[in-house]
Amino acid sequence: THTPIITFHDGHSIPQVGLGVWQTPNDIAAPTVKAAIDAGYRHVDTAAIYENEEGVGEGIRSSGIDRKDLFLTTKLWNDEQGFDSTLKAFDKSLKRLGTDYVDLYLIHWPAPKRDRYVDTWKAFLRLKEEGRARSIGVSNFYPEHIDRLVQETGVVPVINQIELHPDFQQKAAQDAHKKLNIATQSWSPLGQGKLLDNATIGAIAAKHGRTPAQVIIRWHIDSGFVVIPKSITPSRIVENFQVFDFKLDADDIAAIAALDNAGARIGPDPKTATF
Ligand code: NAD
Repeated sequence: THTPIITFHDGHSIPQVGLGVWQTPNDIAAPTVKAAIDAGYRHVDTAAIYENEEGVGEGIRSSGIDRKDLFLTTKLWNDEQGFDSTLKAFDKSLKRLGTDYVDLYLIHWPAPKRDRYVDTWKAFLRLKEEGRARSIGVSNFYPEHIDRLVQETGVVPVINQIELHPDFQQKAAQDAHKKLNIATQSWSPLGQGKLLDNATIGAIAAKHGRTPAQVIIRWHIDSGFVVIPKSITPSRIVENFQVFDFKLDADDIAAIAALDNAGARIGPDPKTATF
């Protein structure tokens, strides 16, 4: 049982299920990443602001899996936005990760009040040209922010990583991404755990003999999203990856569609975030 892949418009591909490592300090990140790779994961999502790039790098090296067979994402933090500062921050991330390239580099937030994401994107284009960031994308961008990148540089991000879970499905963003052939990636895919005791999800899980987490992850896969559930518990890491041998049926899909906007975003609104 292998994770399906999504192919980007730049020709590279990403394993559809990866491990998220937010709020995971270095000493926990290393064994957690190794446990995930042992369980079959080939994709890890970190960020400079998570302060665990060293641990992630160590986990990758200790796994014994070739670097080229792993997909590694990191992200540029807001206070490093700008052309020169981005290039410097990227070098530091690579150094901490102990690798000479990342598979995907993301602008973590548009931070529109800083108004530097276009210059930042120009630095990303250079990193892509150099091959040190194989693919480049964004996170938490509204369609209008993406449109501005495209207008000013002509280069469309391969992916937008946004908050997305069954009760906050982001239809407007999904539609905008489809038009530009941008992959949609779901952060906090389990609603940070709050959706695990949702009655609708529970009923679907019981019907399939699966856990609520598996049903939600399967929903992201069937919806065509790249999904990065977080756990530091080895048994849950395994559980979250055992999702390739079942499918949701039309009733399940309709029931989950009806949950949209029953909840709200958990994280900040990227338009008004002050960081
Ligand atoms: P999540 O939705 O993945 O939920 C994680 C929590 O759910 C865990 O801490 C655990 O409490 C629980 N959980 C996980 N698997 C479980 C299981 N099988 N059974 C029971 N409980 C389980 O939340 P998240 O960590 O916020 O999001 C996932 C990843 O998305 C992050 O680690 C990070 O990599 C990324 N992220 C990105 C941004 C961004 O701005 N780009 C923001 C937040 C998160």
